Amino acid sequence: MIALAVALLIAVALGMAFADQGPASVLRHLYLIPTLWAALARGAIGGGLVGTLAGLLHAPVALPAVERDGLTSQTLDGLLSLALPIVAGLLVGRLVDGSRARAARLAAVLAIQRRLDGPEPLDDKLIGVARELCAALRARRLALMVGADVRTALLASVPVGTLVDTDSAAAFALATGQRVSTVDLAADPRLLTEEAAGPTPLRALALPLVSGAGVVGVMAVEWAGELSRATRAAAEELALHVGLAVENARLTLRQHHFAEELAEKVSAATARLRELDQAKTEFLSVVSHELRTPLTALQGFSELLLRSALAPDRARRCLVYLHTEACTLGRIVGELLDLSRIEAGRPIELRPEPVDLAELIERNLEIFAAEHREHRFRWTAGGPGVALHADPDALDRMVKNLLSNAVKYSPRGGRVCVSACPAADRPGMIELAVEDDGVGIPADQLSRIFDKYVRVPHPETAAARGLGLGLSLVKALAEAHGGRVEVESLPGKGSRFRLLLPEADRDF
Ligand code: ADP
Repeated sequence: MIALAVALLIAVALGMAFADQGPASVLRHLYLIPTLWAALARGAIGGGLVGTLAGLLHAPVALPAVERDGLTSQTLDGLLSLALPIVAGLLVGRLVDGSRARAARLAAVLAIQRRLDGPEPLDDKLIGVARELCAALRARRLALMVGADVRTALLASVPVGTLVDTDSAAAFALATGQRVSTVDLAADPRLLTEEAAGPTPLRALALPLVSGAGVVGVMAVEWAGELSRATRAAAEELALHVGLAVENARLTLRQHHFAEELAEKVSAATARLRELDQAKTEFLSVVSHELRTPLTALQGFSELLLRSALAPDRARRCLVYLHTEACTLGRIVGELLDLSRIEAGRPIELRPEPVDLAELIERNLEIFAAEHREHRFRWTAGGPGVALHADPDALDRMVKNLLSNAVKYSPRGGRVCVSACPAADRPGMIELAVEDDGVGIPADQLSRIFDKYVRVPHPETAAARGLGLGLSLVKALAEAHGGRVEVESLPGKGSRFRLLLPEADRDF
């Protein structure tokens, strides 16, 4: 292109020579055409070069006229025609260079933005951004560090395993938010570097990446040789943009995570609601069944008593059945009342008083032993220390629930061991343990069984009646006493429930 412009210049010069009109020739203005063309195509260097050549070609025409005629308006015009292509070439060339550099910076900014908008993780995006920056700044090396702490910051475009020295220029820029500039990296006494000093000095800049949130990282750049003011300004401008863009990308990623988390939570909550809805439907059908069974027995036996004159021992047996079923009904109604109270958020009303725990357990064991002949009940009293200050009614319900579960969930019979003693691992607590060798509970269900309506299906206990409420009530009652309930279980081996309640001298 420059060759064409030069050829054009020569053509103009020849034209002027043939026309032989001296420095006043109108053709002299044509020197501007190849000069401006070169400036537009090749910037200040092209414009300056072709402009100077135009000046040189015009000099043999303009200068002898000055020598001959002195400084007249005509010779001055000739001199102006000599200088004009040089000045125009340089000026237009510089303007072209400036706008090209600005366009290149804009392209780099867009490329960086595009990289940061991608779906990849931030560290992968930063590698692409560092590459774009390095190319845009024509740097020898460029590295990015993003994060508030040099030890944990993300590093891009550095060898794997690189650790940033806490005394390095990058660490200083990150900590202070100030730029660090060095004219020769290898010879700068402030910096530790593995670079050996060479004939070409290594210029380097560590520029803080700043966003509204403060300093979010550092851009470190190295150039071999001269570093122009324009390149330095471009580096600073790009660092400013990268700071904002990185912060934006981080916010977008955070927003993304937040939206994903929210969606997960909403879908988990929806699933839980659906589960609860289904559990409530099942619960209603179980409740109706549970109520109907003792009611049917009550109606049947009472009708029998009313209609037939039974022998006293048969009548007595009927009364025992009636009593048992009435107790079952009473227990179910009690559990439902407790449940509605808990669901309404009302505190459980307790009437605490000193309780003889051993007496309460023995009384219950007697009843259970009479009703469940296929189970063997063993009671281990924990000595004189076992004294409780509790609501006797609530305590009785807790003990009955644990005992009835131990029996219900060991359908083939077996041992039910009950013990009460001060808890060795919980000072100030009394431990009441009920252990069975029944079907046990799978480990993944252990945390659920204290929730309302939860029943763990097991082929051997499919016929066992229950609302899935007993343990949730035991838990609520234990907590209302300032205690807790725990379980250990092995499927096929049995379960051990531990009720922990505060010792007698504690108030609640
Ligand atoms: P319900 O006995 O009315 O079903 P619970 O709340 O008392 O309700 O118990 C919840 C579930 O925990 C039971 O359905 C049963 O699957 C399991 N479970 C409770 N106690 C035992 C136990 N001793 N052995 C095995 N499984 C038990």
